[in-house]
Amino acid sequence: MNELLHEAAARAARYLENLGERSVAPTPEGLAGLDRFSEPLPAHPSDPQEVLALLDDYGSPGSMGVAGPRFYGFVIGGSLPAALAANWLAGAWDQNVGLTLASPVGSRLEEVALGWLLELLGLPPESGAGFVTGATVANFTALAAARHAVLKQAGWDVEADGLFGAPPITVIVGEDAHTTLFKSLGMLGLGRSRVVRVPVDGQGRMLADKLPPISGPTIICVQAGNVNTGAFDPIRAICEKAHAAGAWVHVDGAFGLWAAVAPGRAYLVDGLELADSWATDAHKWLNVPYDSGLAFSRDREALRAAMSVSASYLPEGARREPSNFTPELSRRARGVEVWAALRSLGREGLAELVERNCRQATRFAEGLKAAGYVILNEVVLNQVLVKFGDPATTMQVVKAVQEEGTCWAGGSVWQGHTAMRISVSSWATTDADVERSLEAMIRVAGQIRKKK
Ligand SMILES: *Cc1c(COP(=O)(O)O)cnc(C)c1O
Repeated sequence: MNELLHEAAARAARYLENLGERSVAPTPEGLAGLDRFSEPLPAHPSDPQEVLALLDDYGSPGSMGVAGPRFYGFVIGGSLPAALAANWLAGAWDQNVGLTLASPVGSRLEEVALGWLLELLGLPPESGAGFVTGATVANFTALAAARHAVLKQAGWDVEADGLFGAPPITVIVGEDAHTTLFKSLGMLGLGRSRVVRVPVDGQGRMLADKLPPISGPTIICVQAGNVNTGAFDPIRAICEKAHAAGAWVHVDGAFGLWAAVAPGRAYLVDGLELADSWATDAHKWLNVPYDSGLAFSRDREALRAAMSVSASYLPEGARREPSNFTPELSRRARGVEVWAALRSLGREGLAELVERNCRQATRFAEGLKAAGYVILNEVVLNQVLVKFGDPATTMQVVKAVQEEGTCWAGGSVWQGHTAMRISVSSWATTDADVERSLEAMIRVAGQIRKKK
């Protein structure tokens, strides 16, 4: 075991060291190497060392360079050194943090991290929270608390009696809500399509004055950080209108919630603390390893009622019981990495990370604009949408940039415009990486446009 773990660490370190210089996307040879795994089920045991070697020799070259400094696809952070190391140690611990009894350390670190997170994000200190897999499940979890609360107010026990015969819940979302939010609503029996959609502006922000009249059990889902533009719904205005009518406000802040930690960006989340529940990802901007999401609910009892194992849930002991706040019972100790990330960065380190990535996004936008390309969004956060010409040309550039290998960014369609989407979310990205990436993007785009 000892030797094997040392070898795994050596291989991982070598992988990360090479990542800065290899092609960010796996090369065709790297992808072809994955065929090595398509073999019949082994009949006999084999040496763990051999298993590890296979994984590294054929798996590493077939990986996307997400952990490196020049990956700008989707919204995917890297892994902070302390968070990755904590992940390894926690893997060795093999804790089941469903129950405090089964993992005193996992449970305690969640409690500590939770307190720190509420303070950092400026959320109500009495909030309850669950450590889940990602924002999709965090939205699901927080919205389950919302569903409980608005139906309880209407005299209905949804956990006991389900939705058959329940008073209808009106769900209000922005026209440009994230696709996964609809999945969460579908899983909750609230329907992907029966939502009321509020029109948005050119940045995808909900128009607060276009909210429909609110009455009866109502949940309003706002967004902190549009996945294309990085824009924020007017949270304060919507919370004020919603609360005057007794509605619940949920915030999908998968990456945008982290703006709250950077003093220069905090204006974007104005009114955040007025909402009732919040979802975010730790695997995005907090830069912990996959997978890690967080669901917060101001009404701790509503979250607990929705998630506890027993319908007539037992009074808690002195300690928070982790599985009373998540869909899962058994699960890994995700709080360990969240704690390690916060412990290693501190308030200032995290603010610096968020601010630096935002500044780098602005630099991308300025550099591309100076080269003659059109920036489609107001760059308020870490997202940049750039157009290199007509849709076909833009997609050609996206593909060519990916193949060239210096960096990686994906394609997107924003309000009818085909664009390359650059998301700067990694602790590892330096200003020099941004310059190098800009140079590659502009060079590749220039070559393609010259051929036309
Ligand atoms: C990424 C994202 C999600 C989904 O998060 P997962 O971690 O992939 O489940 C939801 N909403 C927004 C705004 C996002 O950016």
